Amino acid sequence: MVTDLSAAGPADSSSAEAGAADSALATARTQLERAAREIDLDDDILTRLRQPGRMHEVTIPIEMDDGHVEVFSCFRVQHDNVRGPYKGGLRYSPDLTKEESVALAMTMSWKSALMDLPFGGAKGGVRVNPKELSPAERERLTRRFTHELRNVIGPMRDIPAPDMGTDPQTMAWIMDAYSMMTDESQPGVVTGKPRAIGGSPGRQAAPGRSAAVITREVLAYYDRSVEGTTVAVQGFGSVGGHAARLLNDWGATIVAVSDVHGAIYDPNGLPVADIPLHDEEPEAVKGYDDAGVTRMSNDELLTLDVDVLIPAAVGNVITEFNADDVAADLVVEGANGPTTSTADLILAERDTPVIPDILANAGGVTVSYFEWLQDINRRSWSLERVHKELETEMQAAWANVLQEYEEREVTWREAAYVVGLSRVAEAHEQRGLWP
Ligand code: GLU
Repeated sequence: MVTDLSAAGPADSSSAEAGAADSALATARTQLERAAREIDLDDDILTRLRQPGRMHEVTIPIEMDDGHVEVFSCFRVQHDNVRGPYKGGLRYSPDLTKEESVALAMTMSWKSALMDLPFGGAKGGVRVNPKELSPAERERLTRRFTHELRNVIGPMRDIPAPDMGTDPQTMAWIMDAYSMMTDESQPGVVTGKPRAIGGSPGRQAAPGRSAAVITREVLAYYDRSVEGTTVAVQGFGSVGGHAARLLNDWGATIVAVSDVHGAIYDPNGLPVADIPLHDEEPEAVKGYDDAGVTRMSNDELLTLDVDVLIPAAVGNVITEFNADDVAADLVVEGANGPTTSTADLILAERDTPVIPDILANAGGVTVSYFEWLQDINRRSWSLERVHKELETEMQAAWANVLQEYEEREVTWREAAYVVGLSRVAEAHEQRGLWP
């Protein structure tokens, strides 16, 4: 089913600028429009980019383990594919909406382009709390969703990946179901798979690795070193956990980490290498047993007086209501969309640099690209090669963003959007409109 975006939130950007509580979609559109103004983007191209190209929405019935049937709302939003196949994660979340999927799909278009990958942007998932499903129910749901998406996804069409609430096992079910339906082994239809079926080494840790690499570069830009830098990380999963561990290896002091239940804080530093990540042991931060740590809420963690704050859990956590309380010198966005557009303005006025998600966590989609290349070529890379090539790609993107930041005197987010949006716009200009 293809629906019009008019049902998916305000199309009027001015309401987004003035909005009291920015939705993810309002924030995404405001960010697009700020960058569009900066590069004087052709109005016709902007009109196209404010809307997703296609939206797929299905309601699927699943037989639960006890025999009763439940129905689930599922989305796949394909924003733009002018530079290559649609690309982006699938999330299983009880709060997922079509509007949020649109916002996240738009963000993926700029992220892929900023990294100069031959991909567009997409996002989607299922409105469900995955913790409330048994593994068998998760598998039935995933395979049935894949069946519904059989004409929507494909290695040259749209390539899903893990996101919140999904993991390599979810990708394995999608790959298997799609391969069975097409009668061909199709590892390139999803990325973030287990190694045994064409997954790339280093894919799971990649978003955290890129967040750490970019933090290191930004600190150097401000004449500071990672050594001795204090860092608070919200979320201890594939982004936050890996970023914390890498920065810790490089000499930073990780003073706080959190999970959904709350945060632990130790001004002398936490032994993050010894605390299991969310995927290894979901309640490990909550269960961390050391009388020396102070417990605090996730909201309090955001206001700690640290050098670097990395919100790496969920979206919309730094808002107009708490932006003034952020005491960190630097914010590096590990999650997608943790800062609303109004909070962004407040932080900019206070001269707190915010390094945007589309740069900081772009290691995920970049190693997804490496995985897709490995799948298409039926060759696997070493972890060393993945790390080396990821470092090269991150350095290239960082250099592009830095150049725009210095030349235009804009925020880091605007600079990153300028790089990504310019590439998407140029591709639209070159390809034109047909028929
Ligand atoms: N879900 C991840 C993101 O938001 C990864 C996307 C991908 O690898 O396609 O960047």
